[in-house]
Amino acid sequence: MSSRLQEYRDKRDFSRTPEPSGGTVDAEPFFVVQDHHASTHHHDLRLLMDGTLKSWAVPKLMPEELKVKRLAVQTEDHPVEYGSFEGSIPEGEYGAGDVKVFDRGPYELLERTNDKIVFRLDGNRLKGTYALIRFKGKEAKEKNWLVMRTL
Ligand code: MN
Repeated sequence: MSSRLQEYRDKRDFSRTPEPSGGTVDAEPFFVVQDHHASTHHHDLRLLMDGTLKSWAVPKLMPEELKVKRLAVQTEDHPVEYGSFEGSIPEGEYGAGDVKVFDRGPYELLERTNDKIVFRLDGNRLKGTYALIRFKGKEAKEKNWLVMRTL
């Protein structure tokens, strides 16, 4: 089982939340954007990479128009099964609130470095080339990124 999911599992009590604990490793590259009505309404962007879903919370929602930059805060890797998760996380649990899939589909990875990820989404609502750019910080694990549609 992937130790990349340790933080995800540590934050959750699977006897209380309907969220998946995870286990799948192989799947075709896909993305999902979930609409999450937690303490604040936000989108969660997830890209399947390295066997887990790399995840970012996007407080002002995913941009659909060109050149609009939005903050994307990296969160813990989620299990592949989370890509089809919809449900209600109970009060008192981490991320309490309703989760629905906003869009999902295949994606193509165009460029990936430690600080930049460029990818083409082929969803029903989100189509186009997007870039995630990590903020410059002292920490190699700086969690703040910008997400924008570039093409
Ligand atoms: Mn969320």
